[in-house]
Amino acid sequence: MNIAFFDKTTTTQIIAVQYKTETNQQIPLLIKRDDLIDPFVSGNKWRKLKYNFVEAHRLGYKGIASFGGSFSNHIYALACAGAKTNTPTVGFIRTHKLDLANPTLKAAKQLGMTLVPLTRAEYKLRHDPQFISKLKEDYPDYFFVPEGGSNIQSEPGLKELADELHQYLDTSQNPNIKIATAVGSGGTIEGLLKALPSQSFIGVNVVNDTDLLNRLHDQYNSQLRLHSDALFGGYGKFDKTLEAFCLEFYQQTGVLIEPVYTGKLFYALCYQRERLGLNQEEPVVAIHTGGLQGLRGMQYMNRLTDTRWLPLINSHVPG
Ligand SMILES: *Cc1c(COP(=O)(O)O)cnc(C)c1O
Repeated sequence: MNIAFFDKTTTTQIIAVQYKTETNQQIPLLIKRDDLIDPFVSGNKWRKLKYNFVEAHRLGYKGIASFGGSFSNHIYALACAGAKTNTPTVGFIRTHKLDLANPTLKAAKQLGMTLVPLTRAEYKLRHDPQFISKLKEDYPDYFFVPEGGSNIQSEPGLKELADELHQYLDTSQNPNIKIATAVGSGGTIEGLLKALPSQSFIGVNVVNDTDLLNRLHDQYNSQLRLHSDALFGGYGKFDKTLEAFCLEFYQQTGVLIEPVYTGKLFYALCYQRERLGLNQEEPVVAIHTGGLQGLRGMQYMNRLTDTRWLPLINSHVPG
């Protein structure tokens, strides 16, 4: 294991863009370009994996194991980081049968990840200590990271992101700017909430997980506004409206987004401002958490109906 890969400076820029809605409203947006951290280990997955690798290395583990679905950005990022750091990786994948034509799994395997299928019933136990202990018997030298990479070791990496945001806001004209991000497992927003206890956040849910939402609401009520009106039916679900929005957003801003995470975040910020408690001109720092890799999976599944995606994916999404 050689973790020098994670030494590079990852301070990302914050750019200002305007988005003109269908009713000709100009929406000002500040975008934290974490999608540009690394072409393969993108966005929040870099932030969350970095100190997992540092800790696994410090403790003398040989490899890293984690969990994810067949199209998981986290699994893809882990496989890439494993290849870059010369670290063996294991991916426990929620699937009855591994489909190696799937671009995420195919790339992960090519990068050297050992893929282990878990049934739906087994995968449900992914947080169960007894089940994990059993898996560890087969991989005793592996450091186990939970699904999405959201654990205590993810926090120092998210603190680095928080510090960059804080520094920006500290020197900006408007100290009350809110920070917005997509909420999946909640690890990213929780790391930021902990690191910046007097900052206001907007979390746009992309997963219908009421337990998580209730917990975040109870724990961070004063700091966090959670928004569930841009779910588009649930995790990974979207329609032609959201697809068209993502493409239009790219046309207008030059920033590519996708319909599972960042598309929903920016849709809410552009079209649901009232429900977010935002004024028309109020700027927000939105974190582009990356995840463009997922577009390849959606293309593979024939889920993208608009022909404009194809050239964009081929020129912007590595893989
Ligand atoms: C994984 C992922 C998220 C979700 O982050 P959590 O820490 O799980 O809430 C958001 N955006 C992108 C692009 C992701 O890949």
